[in-house]
Amino acid sequence: MASVLDCVTDKVTRQERLTRDDAVALFATGELLRLGRLAHRVKQARWGNRAHFVLNRQINPTNVCVLSCKFCDFATKRGRSNAYEMTLEEVFSRCDSGIREVHIVGGLHPDWPWSYYLDMLNGIKARVPQVQIKAFTAVEIEFFSKKFRLPIEDVLRQLKAAGLDALPGGGAEVFSERVRKALFPFKIGAPRWLEIHKAAHRLGIPTNATLLYGHMETHEERVDHLLKLRELQDETGGLMSFIPLAYQVGKTRVVERQASAVEDLKTIAIARLVLDNVPHIKAYWVTMGEEIASIALSFGADDIDGTIGEERIMHAADAAIPVRQTREHLVQLIRASGCVPVERDALYNVREVFENGPTTCLSATPPPPGFAGREPHASVGTASSRPGGGGANGGVAYAGVSNGS
Ligand code: SF4
Repeated sequence: MASVLDCVTDKVTRQERLTRDDAVALFATGELLRLGRLAHRVKQARWGNRAHFVLNRQINPTNVCVLSCKFCDFATKRGRSNAYEMTLEEVFSRCDSGIREVHIVGGLHPDWPWSYYLDMLNGIKARVPQVQIKAFTAVEIEFFSKKFRLPIEDVLRQLKAAGLDALPGGGAEVFSERVRKALFPFKIGAPRWLEIHKAAHRLGIPTNATLLYGHMETHEERVDHLLKLRELQDETGGLMSFIPLAYQVGKTRVVERQASAVEDLKTIAIARLVLDNVPHIKAYWVTMGEEIASIALSFGADDIDGTIGEERIMHAADAAIPVRQTREHLVQLIRASGCVPVERDALYNVREVFENGPTTCLSATPPPPGFAGREPHASVGTASSRPGGGGANGGVAYAGVSNGS
């Protein structure tokens, strides 16, 4: 009898889309390595042996937030000893000319005026015009819209005029009303998140998308999340990358243990197979850990994010991975996985290819006859070490926070 991997391999070879049932069955498969090889083949058909990274800087301007999502270790209230609020000068001091991307996400501050956010983007562009700004999750965009009584389109237009280049993918968590009601009942759900990303795409602002997994969601809910993103991408073509984020147990302890390495790798591989219209699948080293992220490059991922610089959100949930990654370290990490490191910018324009060194992926296999993969999508606009023992958290802008890559 044919296994799910037999059926899915046939479909992939025929460039046929996977169904919900296919994807749910893949989460149950025991053939992990075969699943990884298939996803890797699809990745290779699009990107060869290349793996992307970016010189970036994470900035979380405040941890003061009007909400209190149950899985969030980062947010706090004003007046508490752990609360912080950056001045604009403090934000600017974190933007140096050696980076290509700033990634800005934070708490929903109750008092900051609209001008704070516009001045932030304008100020960054005035100081380091070559740096691309990826900022504000859909949750933050919704908050600005309500707080400053502006339609979503106006919020996005004004941010774009001030220098916004892209939206991160955070705040999506998992597209399940059941989970939303249990863990983040006062935050937007799938319809609004998708609406905001569609609006951004219409305005020529490319975006990313995340999935927060490894808490109380089911495999079916993970798959439904992927299918909603695939549908969005069919409609707009504005998604640059998909980033699965492992829930960090931290102090919130929605579950007792972080998702296993097997779950991490399956989620990456299945995302690559289901999201046939999203060009980049990111193995985010901050939540996944360096070792698993480098293995994920042979399981369908083509990106490991970047140097990050400073990150507070995942580390608020006790992320065990180091806070800074140098460019050399990321190049070595990618080379150790057998891939060719490619430095990119926030919009995935290639900046440098590090050709020297090993150029053949360890698990590289030629695509099956007739398999060509889908065309890379043209993006809108332009164009831990595994936390020891299961507690650790890492991650830029996520880990149970509304922020994302
Ligand atoms: S997840 Fe985001 S919105 Fe929710 S409490 Fe944390 S910072 Fe606030």
